[in-house]
Amino acid sequence: MVKAEAVHKSFGLIEVLKGIDLEVQQGEVFCLVGPSGSGKSTFLRCINHLEKINAGRLYVDGQLVGYRQKGDKLYELKEREVADQRKDIGMVFQRFNLFPHMTALQNVMEAPMQVKGESKANARERAAKLLERVGLGDRKGNYPAQLSGGQQQRVAIARALAMDPKLMLFDEPTSALDPELVGEVLDVMRDLAESGMTMVVVTHEMGFAREVGDSLVFMDGGVVVESGHPRDVLSNPQHDRTKAFLANVL
Ligand code: ADP
Ligand code: MG
Repeated sequence: MVKAEAVHKSFGLIEVLKGIDLEVQQGEVFCLVGPSGSGKSTFLRCINHLEKINAGRLYVDGQLVGYRQKGDKLYELKEREVADQRKDIGMVFQRFNLFPHMTALQNVMEAPMQVKGESKANARERAAKLLERVGLGDRKGNYPAQLSGGQQQRVAIARALAMDPKLMLFDEPTSALDPELVGEVLDVMRDLAESGMTMVVVTHEMGFAREVGDSLVFMDGGVVVESGHPRDVLSNPQHDRTKAFLANVL
């Protein structure tokens, strides 16, 4: 579902991704962990067209992200083609980024109506189902300010799901939450994983990675330091940098 080959990304003179190679299989929960500043968010943003890579190849579902290849030349996709690739990818951020002037239901209805041209009735019915799925069936009419952080993040997940994505990206979805609200969001993510969704999850929640993750990559300084099954990497890290990081988060 995702394939990165020697992905490089710089901001000005600073190289943030220094050749990332990895593969995410369909239906997999792929956990990306590493210290702050290691390039995790940048990598997710590249997958979701929020940043452009400088070198290497990045594929989602077999399609080159943002480019078309002819021979060995690459051509940038047009805006409409980029939008077309993006609509299959859902992203959930640390900050929930809900539209403050819209109810939970309206937040979830918005993208299918605006991007996919779905009818209002259809969008409303699907949004209601999605809110029920994330345990917020009784909160449809609430505005973000009337919801807890955990509830807002569950609305954000429902909103991403409303586009019927084939890939979901999570960038530290529980890092901004009070500790007692983390569990309800992880439970929703666990359900989603069980439904077969392909998920790339940047997280410091090692319990989640161990129980739900199928693969884990430890990144540091813009490179993949080690990877494997979460249980193996977490209980038997091979590299000093991984050991040091885990000693701090576990
Ligand atoms: P992580 O998510 O692992 O904490 P990031 O991908 O956010 O790491 O950041 C990696 C590095 O890239 C950091 O040093 C950060 O300052 C830098 N960086 C990220 N985005 C930008 C940007 N838009 N412009 C310049 N530097 C950036
Ligand atoms: Mg980050």
